[in-house]
Amino acid sequence: MKVLVVGGAGYIGSHCVRQLLEAGHQPVILDNLVYGHRKAVAEGVPFYDVSLGDKEKVKDILESEAIELVMHFAAYCYVGESVTAPLKYYENNFVETLRLLEAMLDAGVTKFVFSSTCATFGVPERLPMTEDLPQAPINPYGQTKLDVENLLKSLAHAHGLSFAAFRYFNAAGASEDGSIGEDHDPETHLIPLVIDAATGKRENIKIFGTDYDTPDGTCLRDYVHVDDLSRAHIAVFDKLDQPGAQYFYNLGTGTPNSVREVIAAVEKATGKKVPVVEVERRAGDPPALYADSTKAKQELGWVVKFDTIDKIVETAWRWHSANPDGYGDR
Ligand code: UDP
Repeated sequence: MKVLVVGGAGYIGSHCVRQLLEAGHQPVILDNLVYGHRKAVAEGVPFYDVSLGDKEKVKDILESEAIELVMHFAAYCYVGESVTAPLKYYENNFVETLRLLEAMLDAGVTKFVFSSTCATFGVPERLPMTEDLPQAPINPYGQTKLDVENLLKSLAHAHGLSFAAFRYFNAAGASEDGSIGEDHDPETHLIPLVIDAATGKRENIKIFGTDYDTPDGTCLRDYVHVDDLSRAHIAVFDKLDQPGAQYFYNLGTGTPNSVREVIAAVEKATGKKVPVVEVERRAGDPPALYADSTKAKQELGWVVKFDTIDKIVETAWRWHSANPDGYGDR
Protein backbone atom coordinates (compact mmCIF):
# COMPACT_ATOMS: atom_id res chain seq x y z
CA MET A 1 0.00 0.00 0.00
CA LYS A 2 1.23 3.51 -0.84
CA VAL A 3 0.82 5.46 2.40
CA LEU A 4 1.26 9.16 3.13
CA VAL A 5 2.58 9.47 6.70
CA VAL A 6 1.74 12.97 7.91
CA GLY A 7 4.13 13.71 10.77
CA GLY A 8 6.46 10.95 9.60
CA ALA A 9 9.50 12.79 11.04
CA GLY A 10 7.98 12.90 14.52
CA TYR A 11 8.21 10.45 17.39
CA ILE A 12 5.43 7.97 16.64
CA GLY A 13 5.27 8.70 12.89
CA SER A 14 8.96 7.91 12.34
CA HIS A 15 8.55 4.55 14.07
CA CYS A 16 5.47 3.79 12.00
CA VAL A 17 7.40 4.52 8.79
CA ARG A 18 9.96 1.84 9.76
CA GLN A 19 7.18 -0.63 10.49
CA LEU A 20 5.52 0.14 7.14
CA LEU A 21 8.79 -0.55 5.33
CA GLU A 22 9.26 -3.80 7.25
CA ALA A 23 5.74 -4.89 6.34
CA GLY A 24 6.42 -4.23 2.63
CA HIS A 25 4.40 -1.02 2.24
CA GLN A 26 5.59 2.16 0.53
CA PRO A 27 5.55 5.17 2.86
CA VAL A 28 5.83 8.77 1.74
CA ILE A 29 6.52 11.36 4.46
CA LEU A 30 4.97 14.78 4.88
CA ASP A 31 6.27 16.85 7.80
CA ASN A 32 6.90 20.58 8.24
CA LEU A 33 9.69 19.84 10.77
CA VAL A 34 8.26 22.22 13.40
CA TYR A 35 8.50 19.38 15.90
CA GLY A 36 9.73 16.62 13.59
CA HIS A 37 13.39 15.87 12.89
CA ARG A 38 15.03 15.66 9.47
CA LYS A 39 17.30 12.93 10.83
CA ALA A 40 14.29 10.81 11.79
CA VAL A 41 13.22 10.59 8.13
CA ALA A 42 13.92 7.07 6.93
CA GLU A 43 16.54 6.81 4.20
CA GLY A 44 15.18 6.39 0.68
CA VAL A 45 11.64 7.41 1.63
CA PRO A 46 10.20 10.36 -0.34
CA PHE A 47 9.99 13.36 1.98
CA TYR A 48 7.97 16.58 1.62
CA ASP A 49 8.64 19.54 3.91
CA VAL A 50 5.05 20.78 3.71
CA SER A 51 2.37 21.74 6.25
CA LEU A 52 -0.59 19.41 6.48
CA GLY A 53 -2.95 22.37 6.11
CA ASP A 54 -1.48 23.41 2.74
CA LYS A 55 -4.39 21.94 0.86
CA GLU A 56 -3.21 22.52 -2.71
CA LYS A 57 0.28 21.16 -2.12
CA VAL A 58 -1.05 18.18 -0.18
CA LYS A 59 -3.53 17.40 -2.96
CA ASP A 60 -0.70 17.53 -5.53
CA ILE A 61 1.39 15.12 -3.45
CA LEU A 62 -1.54 12.73 -2.96
CA GLU A 63 -2.09 12.66 -6.72
CA SER A 64 1.50 12.62 -7.95
CA GLU A 65 2.50 9.90 -5.46
CA ALA A 66 -0.70 7.88 -6.10
CA ILE A 67 -1.39 7.68 -2.35
CA GLU A 68 -3.97 5.09 -1.27
CA LEU A 69 -4.15 5.78 2.47
CA VAL A 70 -3.17 8.63 4.81
CA MET A 71 -1.88 8.20 8.36
CA HIS A 72 -1.93 11.34 10.47
CA PHE A 73 0.46 11.82 13.41
CA ALA A 74 1.16 15.55 13.10
CA ALA A 75 -0.34 17.13 16.19
CA TYR A 76 0.74 19.44 18.95
CA CYS A 77 0.69 17.36 22.11
CA TYR A 78 1.49 19.50 25.16
CA VAL A 79 -1.54 19.32 27.41
CA GLY A 80 -0.44 22.28 29.58
CA GLU A 81 0.23 24.49 26.57
CA SER A 82 -3.15 23.58 25.09
CA VAL A 83 -4.75 25.11 28.19
CA THR A 84 -2.81 28.40 27.89
CA ALA A 85 -2.76 28.59 24.06
CA PRO A 86 -5.95 26.88 22.89
CA LEU A 87 -6.05 28.65 19.50
CA LYS A 88 -2.72 27.11 18.55
CA TYR A 89 -4.14 23.66 19.31
CA TYR A 90 -7.48 24.15 17.56
CA GLU A 91 -5.63 25.60 14.56
CA ASN A 92 -3.08 22.82 14.15
CA ASN A 93 -4.87 19.80 15.53
CA PHE A 94 -8.33 20.53 14.18
CA VAL A 95 -8.36 23.19 11.40
CA GLU A 96 -5.23 21.90 9.65
CA THR A 97 -6.51 18.33 9.92
CA LEU A 98 -9.76 19.48 8.31
CA ARG A 99 -7.69 20.92 5.41
CA LEU A 100 -5.80 17.64 5.09
CA LEU A 101 -9.09 15.75 4.91
CA GLU A 102 -10.40 18.20 2.29
CA ALA A 103 -7.29 17.62 0.19
CA MET A 104 -7.83 13.87 0.52
CA LEU A 105 -11.44 14.02 -0.58
CA ASP A 106 -10.49 16.32 -3.51
CA ALA A 107 -7.84 13.83 -4.56
CA GLY A 108 -10.19 10.86 -4.11
CA VAL A 109 -8.20 9.30 -1.25
CA THR A 110 -10.70 7.85 1.21
CA LYS A 111 -8.72 5.77 3.72
CA PHE A 112 -7.46 7.43 6.89
CA VAL A 113 -5.70 6.30 10.06
CA PHE A 114 -5.77 8.81 12.89
CA SER A 115 -3.67 9.21 16.04
CA SER A 116 -6.14 9.92 18.78
CA THR A 117 -5.58 9.78 22.50
CA CYS A 118 -6.93 8.48 25.79
CA ALA A 119 -7.17 12.19 26.70
CA THR A 120 -10.46 12.20 24.74
CA PHE A 121 -11.97 10.37 27.73
CA GLY A 122 -10.94 12.86 30.41
CA VAL A 123 -11.32 11.35 33.87
CA PRO A 124 -12.60 7.84 33.14
CA GLU A 125 -15.79 6.52 34.66
CA ARG A 126 -14.33 3.02 34.83
CA LEU A 127 -11.00 1.18 34.67
CA PRO A 128 -9.63 -0.43 32.60
CA MET A 129 -10.80 1.88 29.82
CA THR A 130 -12.85 0.35 27.02
CA GLU A 131 -13.84 2.11 23.80
CA ASP A 132 -17.45 2.62 24.88
CA LEU A 133 -16.71 4.91 27.86
CA PRO A 134 -18.15 8.43 27.63
CA GLN A 135 -15.66 10.89 26.13
CA ALA A 136 -15.36 14.12 28.14
CA PRO A 137 -11.94 15.70 27.64
CA ILE A 138 -10.65 17.99 30.39
CA ASN A 139 -8.25 20.05 28.26
CA PRO A 140 -8.16 21.57 24.74
CA TYR A 141 -5.64 18.99 23.54
CA GLY A 142 -8.06 16.12 24.23
CA GLN A 143 -10.95 18.18 22.90
CA THR A 144 -9.27 18.85 19.53
CA LYS A 145 -8.64 15.12 19.11
CA LEU A 146 -12.24 14.31 19.97
CA ASP A 147 -13.42 17.01 17.54
CA VAL A 148 -11.45 15.30 14.77
CA GLU A 149 -12.93 11.91 15.71
CA ASN A 150 -16.39 13.46 15.34
CA LEU A 151 -15.51 15.11 12.04
CA LEU A 152 -14.30 11.74 10.76
CA LYS A 153 -17.65 10.14 11.66
CA SER A 154 -19.46 12.84 9.65
CA LEU A 155 -17.16 12.38 6.66
CA ALA A 156 -17.62 8.61 6.77
CA HIS A 157 -21.36 9.17 6.59
CA ALA A 158 -21.34 11.94 3.97
CA HIS A 159 -18.44 10.97 1.73
CA GLY A 160 -17.68 7.30 2.38
CA LEU A 161 -14.38 8.06 4.15
CA SER A 162 -13.21 4.91 5.90
CA PHE A 163 -11.08 5.43 8.97
CA ALA A 164 -9.58 4.05 12.15
CA ALA A 165 -8.87 6.24 15.20
CA PHE A 166 -6.42 4.86 17.75
CA ARG A 167 -6.55 6.24 21.27
CA TYR A 168 -3.04 5.88 22.60
CA PHE A 169 -2.23 5.64 26.25
CA ASN A 170 1.37 6.70 27.14
CA ALA A 171 3.49 6.18 24.02
CA ALA A 172 7.00 5.24 25.08
CA GLY A 173 10.24 3.52 24.09
CA ALA A 174 12.35 3.63 20.95
CA SER A 175 13.20 1.43 17.99
CA GLU A 176 14.98 -1.76 19.04
CA ASP A 177 18.12 -0.95 17.04
CA GLY A 178 18.42 2.42 18.79
CA SER A 179 18.39 4.31 15.48
CA ILE A 180 15.38 6.53 16.24
CA GLY A 181 13.72 7.54 19.47
CA GLU A 182 11.99 10.22 21.51
CA ASP A 183 13.31 13.79 21.25
CA HIS A 184 10.80 16.46 22.25
CA ASP A 185 11.67 20.07 22.90
CA PRO A 186 10.59 20.83 25.55
CA GLU A 187 10.46 17.31 26.99
CA THR A 188 7.61 16.74 29.42
CA HIS A 189 7.23 12.94 29.33
CA LEU A 190 8.18 10.88 32.30
CA ILE A 191 10.53 8.23 30.87
CA PRO A 192 12.94 10.59 29.01
CA LEU A 193 12.95 12.94 32.00
CA VAL A 194 13.83 10.13 34.40
CA ILE A 195 16.60 8.98 32.05
CA ASP A 196 17.97 12.54 32.01
CA ALA A 197 17.92 12.55 35.82
CA ALA A 198 19.79 9.22 35.83
CA THR A 199 22.53 10.52 33.54
CA GLY A 200 22.87 13.85 35.34
CA LYS A 201 21.49 15.89 32.43
CA ARG A 202 18.81 17.00 34.88
CA GLU A 203 19.37 17.48 38.54
CA ASN A 204 16.51 15.22 39.61
CA ILE A 205 13.06 13.92 38.73
CA LYS A 206 10.12 15.48 40.49
CA ILE A 207 7.36 13.04 41.39
CA PHE A 208 4.09 14.89 40.98
CA GLY A 209 2.09 13.66 43.96
CA THR A 210 2.73 10.78 46.33
CA ASP A 211 -0.65 10.76 48.10
CA TYR A 212 -2.83 9.23 45.39
CA ASP A 213 -5.08 6.31 46.22
CA THR A 214 -2.78 3.88 44.39
CA PRO A 215 -0.56 1.08 45.75
CA ASP A 216 2.54 3.29 46.16
CA GLY A 217 0.81 6.67 46.24
CA THR A 218 1.99 7.76 42.76
CA CYS A 219 -0.02 7.94 39.53
CA LEU A 220 -0.61 4.86 37.41
CA ARG A 221 -0.24 5.08 33.64
CA ASP A 222 -0.27 2.58 30.78
CA TYR A 223 3.07 2.88 28.96
CA VAL A 224 2.88 1.33 25.49
CA HIS A 225 5.76 0.90 23.06
CA VAL A 226 5.77 2.99 19.86
CA ASP A 227 6.47 -0.07 17.71
CA ASP A 228 3.47 -1.88 19.22
CA LEU A 229 1.33 1.19 18.48
CA SER A 230 2.65 1.30 14.93
CA ARG A 231 1.82 -2.34 14.25
CA ALA A 232 -1.83 -1.77 15.15
CA HIS A 233 -2.02 1.03 12.57
CA ILE A 234 -0.90 -1.34 9.85
CA ALA A 235 -3.06 -4.25 11.02
CA VAL A 236 -6.19 -2.18 10.40
CA PHE A 237 -5.54 -1.57 6.68
CA ASP A 238 -7.68 -4.45 5.42
CA LYS A 239 -10.68 -3.21 7.37
CA LEU A 240 -10.66 0.09 5.51
CA ASP A 241 -11.59 -1.40 2.13
CA GLN A 242 -15.26 -0.96 3.00
CA PRO A 243 -16.37 2.63 2.18
CA GLY A 244 -17.65 4.45 5.27
CA ALA A 245 -16.12 1.95 7.69
CA GLN A 246 -15.21 3.44 11.05
CA TYR A 247 -13.16 1.90 13.84
CA PHE A 248 -12.03 3.09 17.26
CA TYR A 249 -9.43 1.29 19.33
CA ASN A 250 -7.85 1.98 22.72
CA LEU A 251 -4.19 0.99 22.64
CA GLY A 252 -2.31 0.19 25.82
CA THR A 253 -0.70 -2.84 27.41
CA GLY A 254 -3.46 -2.95 30.01
CA THR A 255 -0.87 -3.23 32.79
CA PRO A 256 -0.35 0.13 34.48
CA ASN A 257 2.87 1.25 36.15
CA SER A 258 3.36 3.83 38.85
CA VAL A 259 5.79 6.74 38.62
CA ARG A 260 7.97 4.98 41.19
CA GLU A 261 7.96 1.78 39.09
CA VAL A 262 9.11 3.76 36.05
CA ILE A 263 11.94 5.25 38.09
CA ALA A 264 12.94 1.77 39.29
CA ALA A 265 12.92 0.48 35.69
CA VAL A 266 15.22 3.33 34.64
CA GLU A 267 17.58 2.60 37.54
CA LYS A 268 17.68 -1.04 36.48
CA ALA A 269 18.32 -0.28 32.79
CA THR A 270 20.93 2.40 33.39
CA GLY A 271 22.56 0.98 36.50
CA LYS A 272 22.39 4.49 37.97
CA LYS A 273 20.58 5.91 40.98
CA VAL A 274 17.92 8.48 40.07
CA PRO A 275 17.71 11.53 42.37
CA VAL A 276 14.05 12.01 43.29
CA VAL A 277 12.18 14.99 44.74
CA GLU A 278 8.59 14.50 45.86
CA VAL A 279 6.39 17.50 45.06
CA GLU A 280 2.70 18.42 44.94
CA ARG A 281 0.27 16.81 42.52
CA ARG A 282 0.23 18.26 39.00
CA ALA A 283 -3.14 19.89 38.19
CA GLY A 284 -5.34 17.77 35.95
CA ASP A 285 -3.60 14.41 36.51
CA PRO A 286 -6.10 11.57 37.03
CA PRO A 287 -4.77 8.99 39.55
CA ALA A 288 -4.94 6.08 37.12
CA LEU A 289 -5.38 5.60 33.37
CA TYR A 290 -5.06 2.24 31.68
CA ALA A 291 -6.53 0.57 28.66
CA ASP A 292 -8.63 -2.44 27.96
CA SER A 293 -7.34 -3.29 24.48
CA THR A 294 -9.35 -6.49 24.05
CA LYS A 295 -11.06 -5.02 20.98
CA ALA A 296 -7.75 -4.37 19.16
CA LYS A 297 -6.50 -7.80 20.15
CA GLN A 298 -9.63 -9.58 18.94
CA GLU A 299 -10.35 -7.58 15.79
CA LEU A 300 -6.82 -6.79 14.61
CA GLY A 301 -4.90 -9.70 16.10
CA TRP A 302 -2.85 -7.03 17.90
CA VAL A 303 -0.12 -8.51 20.08
CA VAL A 304 1.77 -6.42 22.62
CA LYS A 305 5.41 -7.36 22.19
CA PHE A 306 6.85 -4.96 24.78
CA ASP A 307 4.69 -6.13 27.66
CA THR A 308 6.69 -4.93 30.65
CA ILE A 309 7.95 -1.51 31.67
CA ASP A 310 11.48 -2.97 31.81
CA LYS A 311 11.36 -3.96 28.12
CA ILE A 312 10.04 -0.54 27.12
CA VAL A 313 12.56 1.40 29.20
CA GLU A 314 15.46 -0.73 27.89
CA THR A 315 14.73 0.45 24.34
CA ALA A 316 14.40 4.07 25.47
CA TRP A 317 17.74 3.79 27.27
CA ARG A 318 19.44 2.29 24.20
CA TRP A 319 18.40 5.36 22.19
CA HIS A 320 19.20 7.94 24.87
CA SER A 321 22.58 6.45 25.76
CA ALA A 322 23.64 6.44 22.09
CA ASN A 323 22.11 9.89 21.44
CA PRO A 324 22.43 11.94 24.64
CA ASP A 325 21.45 15.10 22.73
CA GLY A 326 18.68 13.39 20.79
CA TYR A 327 18.83 14.29 17.10
CA GLY A 328 20.99 17.31 18.01
CA ASP A 329 19.03 19.65 15.75
CA ARG A 330 17.40 21.99 18.25
N1 UDP B 1 5.23 12.78 36.03
C1 UDP B 1 6.01 13.07 37.17
N2 UDP B 1 7.09 13.90 37.00
C2 UDP B 1 7.43 14.46 35.81
C3 UDP B 1 6.63 14.15 34.67
C4 UDP B 1 5.54 13.30 34.82
O1 UDP B 1 5.75 12.60 38.26
O2 UDP B 1 8.40 15.23 35.74
C5 UDP B 1 4.08 11.87 36.18
C6 UDP B 1 2.76 12.49 35.78
O3 UDP B 1 2.16 13.11 36.91
C7 UDP B 1 1.97 11.28 35.30
C8 UDP B 1 3.05 10.35 34.74
O4 UDP B 1 4.27 10.81 35.29
O5 UDP B 1 1.37 10.62 36.38
C9 UDP B 1 3.13 10.40 33.21
O6 UDP B 1 3.24 11.75 32.82
P1 UDP B 1 3.51 12.17 31.32
O7 UDP B 1 3.58 13.68 31.30
O8 UDP B 1 4.68 11.41 30.79
O9 UDP B 1 2.24 11.66 30.51
P2 UDP B 1 0.66 11.91 30.75
O10 UDP B 1 0.15 10.71 31.47
O11 UDP B 1 0.51 13.18 31.53
O12 UDP B 1 0.13 12.00 29.36
